[in-house]
Amino acid sequence: MTSRPAKCSIHSAVIPAKAGIQLYFEDPQGEKLDSRLRGNDGVLQGVAVLTIEASVMDALLAETSLAHPLECCGILLGEHNHITAIQPAANVHPQPQTHFEIDPQTLVDAHRAGRNGGPQVLGYYHSHPTTVPEPSATDAAMAAQDGSIWAIIGQGEIIFWRDRNDGFAQLSYSILDG
Ligand SMILES: [Zn+2]
Repeated sequence: MTSRPAKCSIHSAVIPAKAGIQLYFEDPQGEKLDSRLRGNDGVLQGVAVLTIEASVMDALLAETSLAHPLECCGILLGEHNHITAIQPAANVHPQPQTHFEIDPQTLVDAHRAGRNGGPQVLGYYHSHPTTVPEPSATDAAMAAQDGSIWAIIGQGEIIFWRDRNDGFAQLSYSILDG
């Protein structure tokens, strides 16, 4: 990761996919997103699926460290494909070293807040304390295939996935400062 430039600019336009993983691009989200992705030279660098506040990236890594060696988990909040905040949750799974289950009350509260004008529930996050941030067999079995976003944190890296009806697809993303 490069150092952060001035406010409201992009410091990693499109995160390259890991070898062997097809990076998944969705339809452009409109002019606003396109303009955010133009580099200093004004050239469109690519259309990322997600935009994520830098503070969210920091918070995900902090939650991962705090929970280690257990898995942390929680909810991704924002609007459309822009993640603005996280809601940490208790991991209520009986084997939190290798599994996660978001406290159902936290989920209920987040959905209720969204209906009452708060940020929307865009998806979920959890950490892999000892493995790569790719969906495990357990994750695949748990997937609702409902189009939600999954952030997985592992080995110091954060990867965002779309829980699609044909499986998990890695999403491109841009980080926004300010
Ligand atoms: Zn997992």
